[in-house]
Amino acid sequence: MFLTVHAASGVLIGQATGNVWLALIGGIISHFLLDLVPHGDQDLGKGRIHQERLMVLLKFGIADTALMLTMVGGLLYFNTGLQTPAVVLAVFGALIPDAINASYLFFKLPGLTQYSAIHTKIHFFWNGFTITMRQGYIVQTIFLMLFLSAIMLYG
Ligand SMILES: [Zn+2]
Repeated sequence: MFLTVHAASGVLIGQATGNVWLALIGGIISHFLLDLVPHGDQDLGKGRIHQERLMVLLKFGIADTALMLTMVGGLLYFNTGLQTPAVVLAVFGALIPDAINASYLFFKLPGLTQYSAIHTKIHFFWNGFTITMRQGYIVQTIFLMLFLSAIMLYG
């Protein structure tokens, strides 16, 4: 899923657990659980040569990161109760699986080939069933709204 959705789940987990270690582990687990949900971005840049695909991923990644930072920044700015180490670590945990995958894709860091393959496989967990990018936007928006609503209700 997009980093924005992962980060929103991270904020919620940090808020709900209040414990740095639970938050970190919960954030990491949440990433893989969310990636199990068919969400349409598995084919981003597919069918293009490697360099072109990386450029597509980079463009989406920059836009997604900007949106994610705006959302997390806004949440923390307007809700001082969220300014806790647990929230920071849960967001970190929720984002790190994609950061590791990106470092493999872009910098070919050694030893990450298997990790990246597993991370990709998760997106096709349901016997290869996936949805289109457009349908994915709807699914991801629903998850984002659910997480943001839960954060507001807690806060
Ligand atoms: Zn991921």
